[in-house]
Amino acid sequence: MQNLKNLIKQAEKNKVAIGHFNVSDSMALKAIFESAQELSSKGGPASGWKVPVIIGTSEGEADFLERNLASAMVQRLRADNKFPIFLNSDHAHSLEEVKKAVAAGYDAIIFDGSKLPFEENIKQTKKAVEYIRSKSKTILVEGELGYIGGSSQILRSMPAGIAIKPEDLTKPEDAVRFVKETGVDLLAPAVGNVHGMIGVGQNPRLDIARIKAIREAAGVPLVLHGGSGISDKDFTAAINAGISIIHINTEIRLVWKNALEKSLLQNRDEIAPYKILKPSFEGVKSVVKSRLQLFNKLI
Ligand SMILES: [Zn+2]
Repeated sequence: MQNLKNLIKQAEKNKVAIGHFNVSDSMALKAIFESAQELSSKGGPASGWKVPVIIGTSEGEADFLERNLASAMVQRLRADNKFPIFLNSDHAHSLEEVKKAVAAGYDAIIFDGSKLPFEENIKQTKKAVEYIRSKSKTILVEGELGYIGGSSQILRSMPAGIAIKPEDLTKPEDAVRFVKETGVDLLAPAVGNVHGMIGVGQNPRLDIARIKAIREAAGVPLVLHGGSGISDKDFTAAINAGISIIHINTEIRLVWKNALEKSLLQNRDEIAPYKILKPSFEGVKSVVKSRLQLFNKLI
């Protein structure tokens, strides 16, 4: 089976993006895996293409789920089903967190220094890259340039300090320097994207021309964070312009919670977790499936 690096290359060539979805438990992991697997049996845009999928755990999600457990589950799903499913440490903010992810056997790690001043971000990201390379030749490292907020929630208004004005978005020349000096494999720029969802359909528009310019200048595949709340049209344009991985978290949290609330209200006497959680499982599965269809141009 192909490794994640090659799959990202292939996705870019095919002008599709790999979906990245966060989990807090094994239920969501199973829902995401089943979505990707069911879509793969229909065949993708290129022959033999299985719909790859990346599972993400933030520091909080990883603490709750347990890193070794997350890693064991993903590796087992991959080996048993010969399926391209991978595990990413989503926004490690310290070298300590990076070390934990490496030790647990994660396939990819995001070092997030986006809140730091530019020079400090370069310095700390470089340190993380050096540590990871000293331990593994295969773990992919992603760096973050431009602050896009830090929570996967429904937001009442735009959080302070987020780069949304054109002058605050990631500049191609900064991306070039950042990639060159840190040695990251992947780059997440600020191109109008925001973590979390601002009401319904109120997330800002993406700067597509900037994505194209950053991709050409930086020379590494780009990752789009804060995918929840972005329009289908912008997603497709962003993929065509050079985005190879798209992160979705808030949308699946929302469907999980709404379905759970409804399930508890409708079945007040039920106490079996697997019955109570079934609608949440189905909800997550269907959101992930529709996103994967869009990102992989299967519709
Ligand atoms: Zn993110």
